[in-house]
Amino acid sequence: MGSILVVFAGALYFLEAKEQMRSFDQRLYDVCQFMAAGVEDGNAQNRKRVDLEDVPILGSDVLSLDTALVFARWYSPEGELVQFFGDIPPSQLKNDPGFQTTTEVVSPRSFARDALTDRSPNDQSAANAPNAEAHPIRLRQLTLPVYQDRQLIGYLQVAVPLTPIDDALAQLRWFLVFGVPSALAAIGFTGWVLGGLAMQPIRQSYDQLQRFTSDASHELRAPLAAIVNNAQAGLIDLTDPLEQQLRLEKIIGRAESMGILIGHLLFLARHEGPLNSDSFSSVNLTGLLRSIAEDYRQQATDKGLNFSCELPDSPLMVNAEPNLLRQSVVNLLSNAIRYTPEGGSVTLTAARQAQRVMICVEDTGVGISAEDLPHIFERFYRADKVRSRYTGGFGLGLAITQHIIEAHGGEISVKSQLEQGSCFQILL
Ligand code: ADP
Repeated sequence: MGSILVVFAGALYFLEAKEQMRSFDQRLYDVCQFMAAGVEDGNAQNRKRVDLEDVPILGSDVLSLDTALVFARWYSPEGELVQFFGDIPPSQLKNDPGFQTTTEVVSPRSFARDALTDRSPNDQSAANAPNAEAHPIRLRQLTLPVYQDRQLIGYLQVAVPLTPIDDALAQLRWFLVFGVPSALAAIGFTGWVLGGLAMQPIRQSYDQLQRFTSDASHELRAPLAAIVNNAQAGLIDLTDPLEQQLRLEKIIGRAESMGILIGHLLFLARHEGPLNSDSFSSVNLTGLLRSIAEDYRQQATDKGLNFSCELPDSPLMVNAEPNLLRQSVVNLLSNAIRYTPEGGSVTLTAARQAQRVMICVEDTGVGISAEDLPHIFERFYRADKVRSRYTGGFGLGLAITQHIIEAHGGEISVKSQLEQGSCFQILL
């Protein structure tokens, strides 16, 4: 952005300088033409003679010019000085016809008195002051060959100070010198602020990913260590078959739990992002929930829980991916059974709510504290670490459920009180 600005500023300056010089030269040329129009070619005493009487500045004519001339000179066709205004010039014409830029030491008195627009009356009086000092200034001069009847009658040479252009360009330079760094600073600051804002979600997801990776490896390391320990201990004493069987059962148990965890991780990795709508179909939710309830009724009864399922008689149709929807309800139901002690109750309900369908999994279990409640949908978060580990959870079930429900465009919420129970509600 900096280099673009610098190139842009350079191009702007170059074009402006070029344009100013072009219009300046045009004015100088017009002045020269105007003066040259006053030149009269005639014969006097049988000699060819050029009459400069009517030429503004050079002649005695009082015609005024609206441009400040530093000097005006008339040279014969042979290049000899005939008449001049301003500082004493060389007696021979030195320059080729055309425009030239020179730097000359010019006494302020030598400015044409009639010069009006480019110098204020104050400047003019200063220029005419008796003790005004001579100083070098940049001049733009034009040497114009003057023809009459296709015959060269002489050269008119005029010069004007380049001060107006120099002043305007100096102003532009100041503007660019301060403007470009200020614009750069403003762009840099805005870019920095916007970049920071844009980076925030990226940083958050990077942190999340890092946490997820370290949590996942931590979770995998514990059962892996248990497997290695049991295998090593089993190898020490190969004589006791009962001990061997115990060790092998522990190894199988740990390996199975690792398998479940890897299954969860794979699920989250595979279903990252929105779901493919091709996999959606019209699902009879009542039927789906009834079949889940049948699967879990026995488990709940075995644990000594009262399990009830309240579903409407008419089918509730939803557009969903049936396996994922089943998985999300199963996660809630198995949690409810897992975290409800013997004698408690677990209820699965579903009902129509205006244009939506509500699924509710309620229990009278251990509940979740107010501090844990905002975090329980985070990956690997376990409200009660010791109890959750004991009950076999990885802290991924609710994250998966929330992921599935949101991918379906639904919402999941929870209400819970410690030692009172929890109520998970899905709206589809
Ligand atoms: P986990 O596999 O550990 O159960 P989840 O993601 O399913 O992981 O749940 C996260 C945490 O939320 C659990 O560790 C548990 O502390 C709490 N939790 C989830 N469901 C319930 C519930 N029905 N009753 C009490 N606590 C629950």
